[in-house]
Order: sequence, then structure tokens, then C-alpha cells
Amino acid sequence: MIAETEPAIDPAQVERDRIAIAGFLLRLRQNGITDRRLVAAFEAVPRRLFVPHESRNAAYVERALPIDCGQTISAPELVALMTAALDVHEDHQVLEIGTGSGYQAAILSHLARRVCTIERFRTLAEAAELRFRTLKITNVTVLTGDGTLGWPANATFDRIMVTAASEGVPKALLDQLKVGGVLVAPLGPPEGVQVLTRLTKTERGNKIEKLADVRFVPLIPGKAAHL
Ligand code: SAH
Repeated sequence: MIAETEPAIDPAQVERDRIAIAGFLLRLRQNGITDRRLVAAFEAVPRRLFVPHESRNAAYVERALPIDCGQTISAPELVALMTAALDVHEDHQVLEIGTGSGYQAAILSHLARRVCTIERFRTLAEAAELRFRTLKITNVTVLTGDGTLGWPANATFDRIMVTAASEGVPKALLDQLKVGGVLVAPLGPPEGVQVLTRLTKTERGNKIEKLADVRFVPLIPGKAAHL
């Protein structure tokens, strides 16, 4: 509930944030991520609003951080790698599975025409919606539901990003991806190491590229009964 509990602005904190963001943007450049739109998106979204209060000074540290409901927000480098791999254009409609904190969706909102994001925990979906409202992000729509089913009412999508691990890509997501579209997902054992995979859907089948070893929380079918 960031709007109500956000403390008064502390100039020292603002300065620490500025240094942390500058360091992060430098690391991105060293990793070969220089695309102007992408860098602008990372500059525009204050990651500290998406991590728990006690982790705010670690917002740009290169590791995943715990959020509510036993879930995690991915390391900023990984968000950048996945966003770059998705190759989002400004006329695109993007589907994200696993809203979590909403940080990835907020980054995508600066690159795409519209972002639809699905989260199985209502608590997380509502907190993310509040952050989007606070940041005046108006082109993200959040659904509390089972992302393995996709979002048929809004299909089809130019791009799909899955931010939770599964052995394979759920069929509904492949069906809701446009021909020529790109899907990025961590594929492999949900409790182990997965391979971040980019799938491009073509008339003649799917092209598969393996990008990096990653660890994500599992993609769990069904809406969460609690929280
Ligand atoms: N993209 C997020 C991090 C995602 S963590 C961010 O930027 O913070 C993965 C999220 O996927 C968790 O919040 C988890 O609850 C959610 N998830 C897992 N299975 C799901 C499903 N079937 N449908 C929707 N969300 C799911």
C-alpha cells in the first residue's frame, strides 16, 4: 500500500537512489544493453517502489528480492535481459504472466502500446495496480487469474513474457501469440535451474533460442485460493 505509507522525501535517500540507478545503468551498458528506449524505460521506473520497504537500499543490487506471498522480484539485470530479448515495439500488445511486484510490467509499459498482465495472487495484483496508479501508468491491465490459460478476451499478442518457471510453454499461450510473435520464458524443472528461452512463432513452426540459465519461482496452474 505504497501511497499511504510512503514517507516524506529524504534528500539523502534520493541521492543514494540516483547513485544506485547510475551504477545499474552502467552495468547494463557493460552487458551490451544500450538501446535508448530500453535505457529510458529503466530510468523512468523507480524500482524502489516495487520492493519491500526493508529492501529498498538493495533495489538495484544484482539479485532477486523476496516480495509478498512467498514470491520474488527478479534481479534488475535479468529484467533487462528478458526485456531486451522480447524486442518490444511501440505498437505492440504484450502479455505478461506473473505480475508479482509489477516492476517488469511497468518497464514494458514504457515500450509497448498496451500490457496485459496476469497474477494468481490477488494481494500482489492489487498492490501492483496501486503502484501503476501512483506512477500514472495507464496502459497496463491486471487480471487476477490463471496465467497458464492466457487472456483469450484480449488475444492475440505480439509478445508474451512468462516470469515463472515451467517445463513447457502452456498451449494456450502459444495459441494466443501472433504469427511472427516472440515469447520469452524460463523453461525447465520448476524447483531447479531453468533455461531462459526465446520462441519465435513462424508459419513453418517455432524457432527456439536458449539465452541463459536462470532460477524462477514455479508457474502454478490455477488461481491462488488465499491471499
Ligand atoms: N514479473 C514479476 C516477478 C514474477 S515472480 C516482477 O516484476 O516482480 C512470478 C510470479 O508468477 C509470482 O508472483 C507468482 O505468483 C506468479 N504466478 C505463478 N503461477 C502463475 C499462474 N499460473 N498465473 C499467474 N501468475 C502466476
